Amino acid sequence: MEVAHQSLAQLSRALKSKQISAVELAQAHLDRIESHQDLNAFLDVRPEVTLAQAAAADARLAAQEAVTPLTGVPIAHKDIFVTRDFCSTAASKILRGYRSPFDATVVDNLARAGMVTLGKLNCDEFAMGSSNENSAFGNVLNPWDTGAVPGGSSGGSSAAVAARLAPVATATDTGGSIREPAAFTGITGTKPTYGRPSRWGMIAFASSLDTAGLMTRSAEDAALVFNHMLGFDPKDSTSVNRPREDYTRNLDLDVKGVRIGVPQEFFGKLLQPDVEAAVREALAEYQRLGAILVDISLPNAELGIPVYYVVAPAEASSNLSRFDGVRYGHRAAHYTDLADMIKKSRAEGFGAEPKRRILIGTYVLSHGYYDAYYIKAQKVRRIIADEFTRAFSRCDVIAGPVTMSVAFAFGEKAADPVAMYMADYYTVPGSLAGIPSMSIPCGFGVGPVNSKRPVGLQLIANYFDEARMLGIAHAYQRATDWHLRRPAGF
Ligand code: GLN
Repeated sequence: MEVAHQSLAQLSRALKSKQISAVELAQAHLDRIESHQDLNAFLDVRPEVTLAQAAAADARLAAQEAVTPLTGVPIAHKDIFVTRDFCSTAASKILRGYRSPFDATVVDNLARAGMVTLGKLNCDEFAMGSSNENSAFGNVLNPWDTGAVPGGSSGGSSAAVAARLAPVATATDTGGSIREPAAFTGITGTKPTYGRPSRWGMIAFASSLDTAGLMTRSAEDAALVFNHMLGFDPKDSTSVNRPREDYTRNLDLDVKGVRIGVPQEFFGKLLQPDVEAAVREALAEYQRLGAILVDISLPNAELGIPVYYVVAPAEASSNLSRFDGVRYGHRAAHYTDLADMIKKSRAEGFGAEPKRRILIGTYVLSHGYYDAYYIKAQKVRRIIADEFTRAFSRCDVIAGPVTMSVAFAFGEKAADPVAMYMADYYTVPGSLAGIPSMSIPCGFGVGPVNSKRPVGLQLIANYFDEARMLGIAHAYQRATDWHLRRPAGF
């Protein structure tokens, strides 16, 4: 079997037993990246850096020194994580060519474990978007159907893993940016509890929501990587100080008797019939495996989108104020004075979506509107979080759709921001609560030109319960093979 199609556990074993070297593995992926450049998944690839890291991993494997299950395994990073050896742009013109003097903690943790970086992945500008159409560096194509979006904002991450250009990729989820693109590309996308992964070196969008996670081909692969990626970081004030965990510990979990909460609000009239059919069939599969379906209600989940689009832009307007043409990034070539320089640099550097959010955010934080919008949104956010907590007294995990429809076409929602925002209708509530959640492939729906487009099943768990969530996902992936399907030609 071609190395690009092997699971992380298989790659890990092959590296340890010297069936393949880290350099050969890195080269095989670099070759695939090169031959699938048309997907536009990568923004920065530097084979000499990758191969040097791979050679160092081979040396570790040869000396049997500090070897982990990830040593020599390639990974690609979303361009929201800053990296010393590659450019870090957040897919924005304002950071074009920027080189960070340090690595993000997540990147550093994985490098210490011996992972080899393949490059940086395209995304929506500052992770704002649901289709990757907001990247300043062009659209990413969905490998299942190049007329369809790969989802966003982590569209480069999802396309790269779906097309087998990388066995695993980092991603970030603020309102759905891991789960939605994972669903649209038929892969496994996992967002841990807010505060578990470090935000240090993650280019900030909405700090109370931003959560690093993974795009993988299976829940098992995600568990293996989380073991080295997550953990307390004193450099991040919202990092949670809990002992390290073994996220693989529930992979043999039997779902017999596990209570799966099914929120009625997630099966309303917005849900497309093809997605609903695949999700219901996945729930039936869990029942056949012995799980118990429990009807639950999240009555205020429908307020997730309006609440999110107050809170997230408010935080974004503050976070993006650092891009002033002085400290880093783009500076206008012609200006009259300091204020003019800042104004022109920002006007030239930011794309339309970040500008829209800066305006909305500044507005909702302004005197006279702060109480009416921002404080109100914070109160509803708490109500939504409390509804989840109550639901988890009746079930172990919540399951439902990730998206209303399969991947949509380029341009379909680009001119209508609210239609685009609605793509995260089922993912935003969990983000506002800060609970872990994931998307696993569970079938196919229909695209316009008769193409098959993947459907994702969303699992949502209580705070810090990701090991069990991964175990519940793995039970499904042991019983089904949706996660093993790959797009034609890849
Ligand atoms: N689509 C949502 C937004 O544009 C979520 C993005 C994300 O999770 N980064 O804000």
